Amino acid sequence: MGADKGVRNPDWKDGFLFIGNQLALDFLNTCPVQNGETVELLCDFGALLRWFQAADLLSSRQAASLRQQWGESARAHHVLEAMRELREKLRTEVLAIESGGIVRRAAVDELNDLLAKYPMLTRVQASSGTPAIELWFDSRRPEDLFAPVAHSAATLFAEVDRSRVRKCGQCVLHFYDTSKKGTRRWCSMQLCGNRFKVAAYAARRRTSVRN
Ligand SMILES: [Zn+2]
Repeated sequence: MGADKGVRNPDWKDGFLFIGNQLALDFLNTCPVQNGETVELLCDFGALLRWFQAADLLSSRQAASLRQQWGESARAHHVLEAMRELREKLRTEVLAIESGGIVRRAAVDELNDLLAKYPMLTRVQASSGTPAIELWFDSRRPEDLFAPVAHSAATLFAEVDRSRVRKCGQCVLHFYDTSKKGTRRWCSMQLCGNRFKVAAYAARRRTSVRN
């Protein structure tokens, strides 16, 4: 995938990729490979908060409040490290799903622990006239950030059509294919699809020159 961020490429939002169509997959994609090197986008607690904001999980006010209260604390750093660990554990399970395997029991147990400790809460939103149920989470402590990620991982494992959960054919990014035909192969056309087409064209040309 290319190194272009921001303006020219709509796949990036505030320095993060949202091409997964599913929050837990977008979370996995916070460690992409750029120019041949793995890049940790969640480099500190501030970056983690920026990802939550970019994913519309925290308002700027909520993120600022967490940053002010916990930003430099050991507790925030510990949560950041645990988040990254969770991400890599989820990656192992997602790779298993993508190759036709199942989610390990140990991973399910661990996820259930997180769901019990940091649950998503339900409320009725009535501001637009017709009341609607929405999920939310308390965001007073750094640990609370586990709630939406764990919930989304549970949804991914239990409710998403696994035949449509895929890794990009060209890079390390994962996505949930919501296309009508279900034939999506790339993280995105801009990042990998075009590159593949160029490479395929060059290969065809090489073959035809040889012939
Ligand atoms: Zn890709």
